[in-house]
Amino acid sequence: MVIHNGQVIDGTGAAAVADAVVLIRDGRITYAGPVVKAPQPPADAVRLDARGGTIMPGLVEAHYHPTYFNVAELADLDIKYPVEYVTLLAAANARLALECGYTAARSGGSLHNIDVWLKKAIDEDLFPGPRLAASGREICGSAGLMDWNPEYLKLGMEGLILLVNGPVEARAAARKLVKDGVEWIKTYPTGDAASRHADHHSLCMTEEEMTAVVAEAHNYKVKVTGHCRANLGIKNALRAGFDTLEHGTFMDTEALDMLLERNTPVIPALQFEWASVERGPEFKLPQWVIDGHQETLDAGAESARMILKAGGRLGMGGDYGFAWNPHGDYAKEISFFVKFVGFRPLDAIKCATKTGAEIMGREKEFGTLEAGKLADILVVDGDVIRDITLLEDRTRFVAVMQGGVIKCGASSQ
Ligand SMILES: [Zn+2]
Repeated sequence: MVIHNGQVIDGTGAAAVADAVVLIRDGRITYAGPVVKAPQPPADAVRLDARGGTIMPGLVEAHYHPTYFNVAELADLDIKYPVEYVTLLAAANARLALECGYTAARSGGSLHNIDVWLKKAIDEDLFPGPRLAASGREICGSAGLMDWNPEYLKLGMEGLILLVNGPVEARAAARKLVKDGVEWIKTYPTGDAASRHADHHSLCMTEEEMTAVVAEAHNYKVKVTGHCRANLGIKNALRAGFDTLEHGTFMDTEALDMLLERNTPVIPALQFEWASVERGPEFKLPQWVIDGHQETLDAGAESARMILKAGGRLGMGGDYGFAWNPHGDYAKEISFFVKFVGFRPLDAIKCATKTGAEIMGREKEFGTLEAGKLADILVVDGDVIRDITLLEDRTRFVAVMQGGVIKCGASSQ
């Protein structure tokens, strides 16, 4: 296949190459660059016209919750629907993510073990969806952010969260998840603005618990991440050896130094905070929750700027599936970083492609347009550097490809 008549953005942060082509053979890229230097494709090659637009790597959602659906309050994260229905919702969400140009996604936690099996269904072509990294259920300390049910209700939460007390239980929870077949373990080192008893400045796990999770996970070559807002929680996670940090909200220079030393990627997920502030009143969020989200947004944006400036790694994604931040809006994350955080479009795209693939540990397979990589490609009708919001509009997608196969977009019809 030859994709022609477009500019190439390769995902490395390098400038776009005008009048470029991408050549694909057997599902892999054989060439991506200026047309004048391109080898001659065979006469019978399939030609795909990029319509003078942009040829770029497929996007990577780095903090994806396939089982979230129309969440209006914390309790909706749990068994609002039976697991059978949530499984179907997750499959629908996965198809939507692919239609939105996301050819890969790392789960940031899922109800039951749904994402592990969703990944299998996608890999076996039963369902369309992003190449997934699965996380399954999450781990939090008792009384932490995810432990919201009052004791008198005697409700179990083990389909959503494994609540732990102390390093022995943390280790046992990690072992359970390893056995479930997860590739990542998602933990809750800190709280969040949405919780009254475990807010964004509180800790929800001890460093000993986190260290126990990491030791057990790494033993089985499973990676660990965590919901890290409070400054001390960020430092505890870095000291414990976390592989990525979700949010990394309240960073100070000491936390930044620790982060850079370890080159740990951070996934800020800021569009969710913005949407919570902007649309909170419409959904009747209490003012103290909205105020907490505003504080989180301001500090999170500042931390992201610090990390980018210092040469750290950032992934794009985050918490789509809330009522005010629904599935399908994923690329708003990228626009947000350009419009409100001050990233160059090329930097935001690099975060959403190359760094996303690095976070998934699959940077040798995809994430950039380079010879030898899988042809996971997004072709957009238009110049995404001039208007980054084109990535939000899937009616402008000419093609969304995985391994050289056109899965969605105008040319798939
Ligand atoms: Zn999340």
